[in-house]
This record gives sequence, structure tokens and C-alpha cells, in this order.
Amino acid sequence: MIAMTNIQLIDKLNAEKRLTEAEWVQIISTYTPDDREYARALAQGIAISGFGKNIFFRGIVEFSNYCKNNCYYCGIRGGNAKLSRYRLTDEDILRCCEKGYESGFRTFVLQGGEDPAFTDERFVGMIHKIKAAYPDCAVTLSIGERSRESYALLRGAGADRFLLRHEAADCEHYAKLHPPYQTLENRMRCLRDLKDLGYQTGAGMMVGSPYQKPEHLARDMIFMADLDPEMVGVGPFIPHSDTPFRDEKAGSVELTLLLISLIRIMLPRVLLPSTTALGTAQADGRKLGVLAGCNVVMPNLSPADVRKKYMLYNNKSGTELTARQGIELLRGQMEEIGYSVIVGRGDYQKV
Ligand code: SAH
Repeated sequence: MIAMTNIQLIDKLNAEKRLTEAEWVQIISTYTPDDREYARALAQGIAISGFGKNIFFRGIVEFSNYCKNNCYYCGIRGGNAKLSRYRLTDEDILRCCEKGYESGFRTFVLQGGEDPAFTDERFVGMIHKIKAAYPDCAVTLSIGERSRESYALLRGAGADRFLLRHEAADCEHYAKLHPPYQTLENRMRCLRDLKDLGYQTGAGMMVGSPYQKPEHLARDMIFMADLDPEMVGVGPFIPHSDTPFRDEKAGSVELTLLLISLIRIMLPRVLLPSTTALGTAQADGRKLGVLAGCNVVMPNLSPADVRKKYMLYNNKSGTELTARQGIELLRGQMEEIGYSVIVGRGDYQKV
């Protein structure tokens, strides 16, 4: 059999929404600038035909940097003794939402480390307060692995969406990024439960995380084709100096952009953020993400005094700004490339 060119493979992905593992490995390990541009133009066209030149803003509130986990890549891992820890109160969190609402946000993302002080009761109370104050807004949780009962309770309290990157769909690769008590099996169980409970669910991975090979990314793409998530978060790995991966290389922005385009082609309606990590790795990274097929940007609404403490990786973009400055900067970047930020919840549209 004569091998297909990468451009033929991109067309096949567009037509069939799937590639084999060998085909994924081929694109990921042999793509040229022309292949990248082909995928980018196709993906941008798909995004524009689905959403117009419109971007949804989601406001992230980083409610706590305490974490009981120990992901080797992450700056807020429990084992980082150098980090000064904080937790926001419900009042702090509601003030962040208020600022966001005034700026046109209709989705609030509560993100944090896995902080045992944030019990189910605490989250239920918080979701009720946010929903009572802003009934027209979606609440997204990004709070890590919990029991099915806990996810069910929070969904019942009104949470609409949940972001839980799978991080690595290959078992051996997952084990290189996490300590033995954090298993891929449980991560997958969580994602299945979230989908099953009716959350709009987000998966995703870092590009260029240590020990990652093209085969691993191929499995990530196949896993996402199977899961059919409503949201996907992808950004380059960026080392953090107080983690075991301090001396590892950062992930490639080009490969991240290619994968973003391929994800848009594979999952045409997916809500796909142009991530903070992309904007940190390269100053115009978030604009390039949108031009590659992204349709979501997630500005940080956290209070100025805690931003530097939610440092997942070195030099995280926006930590030196106030919420308002960050929002206006991102709005300006979107306008520079001819996109507008729209007011709306931006739910996943089922066909
Ligand atoms: N504790 C929550 C929120 C995690 S932080 C959870 O486990 O889901 C959000 C995302 O940041 C992670 O899923 C991870 O993919 C990404 N991240 C963490 N450290 C990073 C690093 N060093 N470089 C790039 N992205 C990183």
C-alpha cells in the first residue's frame, strides 16, 4: 500500500473524524510547515462556520493553591514546600464573579488544587450562592478527582461543566508524570462519571510533557475521539523551578498549534480554549491559537494578591496584571485579529 501524505491524512480526519495510531504518529512526527498551514486554514474555517469570528470568555477564579496531589509537572503540587498557600473565602469568590459579570462573562470557572478544606458541602454552598446571584451564568468546576457521589452532588447543586484534563492517555506515560497513588484508571473513571452525570466535560493534555513520544500523543488523540468531550484544553508543558521537572524542556508551540487544529477538525463543535500556557510560551500565542481553530479564551479573575501564588509553571502570563487589565489585554488581542468577544454562556451545541 502506498502511504498517504500528511495532507491526505488531514483530509481523511476531516471526512472520517478518526485516524489510526500509525497515521497519527506519521503526522505528529513528520509534519512540515505546509502541512501545518493546511490544517490551520481548514480548522479556522470550521471554527468560523460553527461560531463566526466570535470568542467566548470564561472567567477563571483560582480559589485555592493547597493541593494534596503531587503531579511532577505542577508548581502547586503538595510537595512544593516553597510555595506560600492561600484559600479564598466565599465572599472573595463572589467578588471575582461580580467583576467578571460586569465585564460580560457568563461562565465562571472555579479552579484549584485538590484542597481537602473544600468539602462537598462547601462547594454546594458556593455553587448555590453563585447561581442565586447570577442565574444566567454557567458554573464550571476544575477541582480534580472526586468520587462519583461527590460529582453527582455538585451537578445536582447546579454545576454545568467540568474540566479535568486526562493529561496522558497512555498508562506508562501517565505514570512518568504522576506518583504511583495517582492512577490513569481513576482519572478515566472520573471522566466517564462526569460525562454520565451530564456535565459538559473537558479533557486534554500538555504538549511536550517530559517523556512524551509521538505514540503517546497519538493515543491522546484517539482517546479524545472515543470520549467525544464537549471541551478540550491543550497547552505546551512549561517547566516550574520548584518541581521535579525543573530541568526539562518546554513543549513546542508549533506542535501545540498543529494539534489544536487537528482537534478542531476531529471535533468540529468542541469548545476549545486558547490557553494561558500558550500565551505564556509565546507573547502572541493566544492569537495564534484562535487562528488555529480555538474559540474560547479564559481570562483570570483571581484577586491580584493571590495570582503569583497560583503559579502552575514559571512566568505564567497575567500574574502581574489586575483582572481588569488582563481582560482588556485579551479583548484587544482578539480584536487585533478581527475577532469579537461575545457575551453569553457559550454552551456546547448538540446537533
Ligand atoms: N487540580 C485541578 C486543576 C489543575 S491545573 C486538576 O487536577 O484538574 C490545570 C491544568 O494545568 C492541569 O490539568 C495541567 O494540564 C496544567 N498544568 C499544570 N502544570 C503545568 C505545567 N508545568 N505546564 C503546563 N501546564 C501545566
